[in-house]
Amino acid sequence: MNISLTVYPVALVGAGPGNPGLLTLRAAELLARADLVLYDRLVPVRLLDHVPARAQRICVDSLHGTHPERWPEIYQIMIDGARQGQRVVRLKGGDPFVFGRGGEEAEALRQAGIPYEIVPGVTAALGAGAFAGIPLTHRRHVSAVAFVTGHEKPDKTDSFLDWPGLARFPGTLVVYMGMGKLPHIVEMLIANGKPAQTPAAAVHWATTGRQRTVTAPLGELPAAVQQAALKAPSLVIIGSVVSLREELAWFESRPLLGKRILITRPRHQAGELIARLEELGAVVSHLPAVEIREPDDWTPVDRALGNLSAYQWLVFTSANGVDALISRLRHLGRDLRALGPLRLAVIGPATADALRRYHLEPDLVPPVFDSESLARALGDRVAGQRVLLARADRGREVLREQLANVAEVEQIAVYSQVDAIEPGAEELEALRQGEIDFITLTSSNIARSLVHALDDRALQLLRSGAVQLVSISPVTSAAIREMGFRVAVEAREFTAEGVVQALLNQSEPRTERSGVSG
Ligand code: SAH
Repeated sequence: MNISLTVYPVALVGAGPGNPGLLTLRAAELLARADLVLYDRLVPVRLLDHVPARAQRICVDSLHGTHPERWPEIYQIMIDGARQGQRVVRLKGGDPFVFGRGGEEAEALRQAGIPYEIVPGVTAALGAGAFAGIPLTHRRHVSAVAFVTGHEKPDKTDSFLDWPGLARFPGTLVVYMGMGKLPHIVEMLIANGKPAQTPAAAVHWATTGRQRTVTAPLGELPAAVQQAALKAPSLVIIGSVVSLREELAWFESRPLLGKRILITRPRHQAGELIARLEELGAVVSHLPAVEIREPDDWTPVDRALGNLSAYQWLVFTSANGVDALISRLRHLGRDLRALGPLRLAVIGPATADALRRYHLEPDLVPPVFDSESLARALGDRVAGQRVLLARADRGREVLREQLANVAEVEQIAVYSQVDAIEPGAEELEALRQGEIDFITLTSSNIARSLVHALDDRALQLLRSGAVQLVSISPVTSAAIREMGFRVAVEAREFTAEGVVQALLNQSEPRTERSGVSG
C-alpha cells in the first residue's frame, strides 16, 4: 500500500456490544477528536458522549435508501469527509470485521486511495459469553468455538452454511443474527446429527441493562425463546459450556437490572451517577434539565473578589459555585492565596469535595445537607461577621435570610442556571412512550424545568405513578408535590449516592422464572 498520510486516516472502529465500558481506549481517543462520526443504530448513544460537541454525527440508518443500497452512500460520505480533511470515525457495533461489513468498507476506502485504521471491538459473542456466564471454551468441555451467521438467504438451495460441518463441529457454536430463523437453524443442526439435548442459550442485548437470557436444550430453544418473547438483537450459543452458566452467571442478579432510569442532572455532573447506576444493571438515559452558564453580570462578583479581606466567611451551596468562583479568580489573574484567612463553609459532601480538588478543606459541613441546616450550623459562628455567599442566580433565599438575622451577608451569583430541555429530545419521546420506570430529580430547579418541558401525555404518566419520581431531598420533594406529583422515594442522604440507595430500596426484589433470567 503506497498511500501518503496527507489526509487523516478514516478509522473503522468497533464500539463493542453495547456496554459503554467495553469500548477500547483507542476507540475513545479517536472519538474524542473526531470531526465526523458515522454510527450504526445498535451503537449505544452513550458512546457518543466521547465525541466533541462540534463534531457532526450521522446515524447510518438515517441515510436514504434501504439496506443494502445505502452502503455506497456511507462509503461516499467517508471518502468525501476524508478528502475535506475531516477526521472520520466509522463506529460499528461489536467488531468491525465480525459480520460487520468492515471488510467491504475498507475495500471501498482502499479503492478511493483513502488511508484507514481499523480498531477491533469486543464482538457480541465475547460480550454475551462473559455477561451471561458462559465460557465459550473450557478445558473440561471444548477447545474450539465457531462464529456463525444465521442470516441466510431465504432460498435454501443457495445456503452458504455447511450444516453437516456445523453439526459435527467439535466446539461451541455462536450464531449471530439467528433470531429470525431460529427454528430452521435448530432443525438443520439436529437433522445433521447435533444432539437435540445439547445445552443452548439465547442472550438478548448482552452486556447492557436490557440483557435477558433464555436457556433450554437445543431442540426446545425455539419454543422457549418464543415464550419469553426474546427478539433481536440476540445471540444463540450452542454447546455443553452453556451448562456452566448455572454456576457462573453474575450480571443478571444486579439489583437494578432492566430498570429504565432517566437522569436529569446537568451534563458535567451526571457521569458518576450514570456509571454507578449502569454498574448496578440499570438502563440509563440522560436528559439534562438544566445547564450551567456564566452569570449575566460579573461586576458584583469581581467587586467582591477584589475585596475578599472584608469577609470572614465564604459559603458555597454547590460544587458549581466552587468551580465558578475559583475559575473567575483565576480569570482575574489571581490565585488561591487571595482567599487568605477566609473560613469556608459548604452545604454538603459534594461541595466539600469540589473544594478539596483545589486542596482547600472546608471549615464547616452541616450534619444535614440543606440550607436550613447550614444556616443553623453557621448560626453563632458568623454572628456580627461579614459573610460572602457564592451561589447560582436562582434558588432559595433561606440561607441568606436566616444568616442576615445574625451577620452581614452579601450574596453573589457566580453562575447562572438555565433550563436546558430541547423540545423533541429523544429521551422525552422515550418517556412519552412509557419506556422509563424512574426519573431522578436532584434539585427543585431540575424538577420544575423537567415538568415544564413535558406534554400532557408525559405528565399523565407521572401523575398515574407509571413513572416514579425519585427525589434527592425534602426540599426537592416539596417542589415536586407543589406541582401536584407524588414522590415515590426520597434519598435519606441528600447526595447522588443517597439517590442510588433510594432506587435500590424502591425497586422490588426480582422474581426468578425457570429457565429465563434478566
Ligand atoms: N459486528 C458485530 C455483529 C453485527 S451483526 C459484532 O462484532 O458483534 C448483528 C448481530 O450481532 C445481531 O443480530 C445479534 O445477533 C448480534 N449482537 C450484536 N450486539 C449484541 C448484543 N449486545 N447482544 C446480543 N447480540 C448482539
